[in-house]
Amino acid sequence: MEKSFMEQRGRILKRSIIVPIFISLLFFFIMGIWAITTIQNFYYEERLEEAQVLASGYAETLSIAMDAQRLLEQYLENTLNAAGLAVSNYPGSFNTDSLSEIARELNVDRIFIYDEALVLSYASDGLHIGWVPEEGHPVRQFFESSKTQYIEDIRKETGSGIPYKFGYYRDDHNGIIQVAVEAEKIYELNARFDSQHLLDQLSQLDNKIAIAYLDEQHTIITSTIQDVLGTYLDFETYHIPSQAGSFRRITTEDGNYMALNVPMMQNDNSQGTLLLFYELDETEELISIVSLVIISTILLVFLLEIWVLWGTYKKNQNIQFIAYHDELTGLPNHRYFNEFISESHSAPLTCLMLNPRNFKAINILYGYTYGNEVLIHIADVLSALQLRQASLQAFRISDDRFIILMHSQSSEKQIDTLIGSLRLLATQYQDVSSLEFSIGIATTDTAGHDPSLLIKQASIALHATTDEIFIKQYNNSMEESLLRKDTIEQELKRAIRGEEGILSLAFQPIVEARDSSIHGFEALARMKSQKLGMISPMEFITLAEQRGLMVPLGDKIIDLATDFLQTIQERFDGNVNVAINVSALQMIGENFTSKLQELAGKKQINLYQVELELTESIFSQDLNLIAKRLKELRQLGIRISIDDFGTGFSSLSRLGSLEIDILKLDRLFVIALSEESERDLVSDIISMAHHLGKKVVAEGVETTGQKRWLENAQCDLLQGYLFNKPLAPSDAILHIEQEKTHHA
Ligand code: C2E
Ligand code: CA
Ligand code: CA
Repeated sequence: MEKSFMEQRGRILKRSIIVPIFISLLFFFIMGIWAITTIQNFYYEERLEEAQVLASGYAETLSIAMDAQRLLEQYLENTLNAAGLAVSNYPGSFNTDSLSEIARELNVDRIFIYDEALVLSYASDGLHIGWVPEEGHPVRQFFESSKTQYIEDIRKETGSGIPYKFGYYRDDHNGIIQVAVEAEKIYELNARFDSQHLLDQLSQLDNKIAIAYLDEQHTIITSTIQDVLGTYLDFETYHIPSQAGSFRRITTEDGNYMALNVPMMQNDNSQGTLLLFYELDETEELISIVSLVIISTILLVFLLEIWVLWGTYKKNQNIQFIAYHDELTGLPNHRYFNEFISESHSAPLTCLMLNPRNFKAINILYGYTYGNEVLIHIADVLSALQLRQASLQAFRISDDRFIILMHSQSSEKQIDTLIGSLRLLATQYQDVSSLEFSIGIATTDTAGHDPSLLIKQASIALHATTDEIFIKQYNNSMEESLLRKDTIEQELKRAIRGEEGILSLAFQPIVEARDSSIHGFEALARMKSQKLGMISPMEFITLAEQRGLMVPLGDKIIDLATDFLQTIQERFDGNVNVAINVSALQMIGENFTSKLQELAGKKQINLYQVELELTESIFSQDLNLIAKRLKELRQLGIRISIDDFGTGFSSLSRLGSLEIDILKLDRLFVIALSEESERDLVSDIISMAHHLGKKVVAEGVETTGQKRWLENAQCDLLQGYLFNKPLAPSDAILHIEQEKTHHA
């Protein structure tokens, strides 16, 4: 039962750390990823910038190279043109020697002259004379065109296959002059300005870099990788970033590369694309190291947080346990009980409130340390009980109050069995002299799942236990009776404080048996509650005794009774007595005698007319003190009568030694006079009392038959409804007046 309750609270507590752990895990995870990508981007971005600088430098160099190449080509054209012009204006006649001479002088490699029918007439090398260019041949194309001169791009010569740059010029005879310069020479001249050459130089700066220069159609124009020159590069296939100014990481078997696409710009005109390939191994190693440092830091911070949270969690767990358990015994406490009851919504529960009966005495006699040991023993007993029956739950809800909660609608038999095992277990703890419990029982049937109501009802039931009956089950009348007692107590206190109209006295005449003349009155307390109406003295006197109010209440009664005595002493001759009922608690009070004496002085009354009625319960008090007190009282002239004689444990022989004047035979003896055996007993009591010099009063005389028998038995005084009911003071006075005139 207990486990699930604390587990549930543990779960709530756990949630309180798991949620922040989860959130921070997420936070650190995101932060880690962010940091790593930032670092990665930082390095890649740096590469990109570097590449862009490289590319713009390269573009510049390339444009210079192109300018140079243009100049070179211009120079070549000029050379070809000069040669063409020189040949067409040549004054002499041509032959192989003269043409080769001119070629050497003009720094060209070949000169050919075709006649008006396009037949090769002269050649500086003297070869192929008589050859006629076929249809579509560049020579024929020029011949058939309207151009007067033309410089052709480099091409391989028909036949020899050697690359040449050719220039064509018309002469005055409708023939053609063809001048050629070998391209190998141009390449050599260009070599210094060649883009390929530049690339090779660039790549030597950092041999980890592969570079390719592509035209708009992605054809590789130059590259550090020679065998791909002139081929088309499919970006898609090779995962090359297609966007200008972007980069991409490429994984290959040899390692990881970063491919950068950098646009080549020349005066805002695109000049193609420069692709750069960096080997990433070193960079990535660096990134890994930095990332590792960051991740380790983050992990460290995270672990630190978990460590702190865990510490707090453990501490809170401890606090939680303390909050729900009693420090001394370790049993679940009042708070636990409250929450447990509220949460066990519908399950029927029986609540046994246990109170060790002699605990206060143990504390006083053996001290608090021992008292605590006893409480721990009780907790042990309850825990042992709980171990036997899993459906039980024990609590300690205050100093000396324990609760056993029984699950299910517990039958009387089950409760009896439980209490039986409790007793058995309690006796096994030898250390504690005798562990006995008063037990108040309440159930959720009457209290519902309201913990405070359940405790209240169990407490009421506990309160209702007595020395004889120490197990009580709560019922509604218990609460009513408690409330009633409480109301009566409040009103008693008010009466004691002097409030009028609550407490009064009624006076019942006591008559002489021989002539029915008046002997005196018994003062009987009356209480009228505004809320509850008339309350029997049996009830409020008992309550006053229980609540420690008997002494002040008794003083009040004595005050009222002596007021009455004062009146009759003032108005009549001094032979009417007033009998006042006095409780044992009053009698043993410190200054009982002196208070009476003081009162008599103040009111100017004669105490010879006072009788005090004591019950046999005074014999359970200190007998020496009683004897002393009775002596004092008798010295004041007061007479003592023993009330309800025969119901208690006092014997006539014992009474003989005490200063007692009158025996009041209990009403039960008068009722029992109808039985022969009882009649003998009563007459024996009367004669014995007379023998000891005491008078006898018979109480509760209701019939003339009882009166007659008692007269015959020599009973001295009679009291009962047959003569009078208790009278209000004014009626009692009136009664005396009537008596006096009647007897006069
Ligand atoms: P008790 O002292 O034995 O008082 C006699 C009771 O018997 C009175 O009841 C009285 O009204 C009643 N009684 C008198 N004659 C008859 C009769 O013929 N038949 C019947 N059936 N009853 C009769 P009450 O006044 O209700 O008092 C009850 C008890 O309350 C008293 O018993 C006494 O023990 C206690 N008590 C009353 N007043 C005081 C008081 O001022 N001080 C103390 N300490 N106790 C008082
Ligand atoms: Ca009495
Ligand atoms: Ca009596």
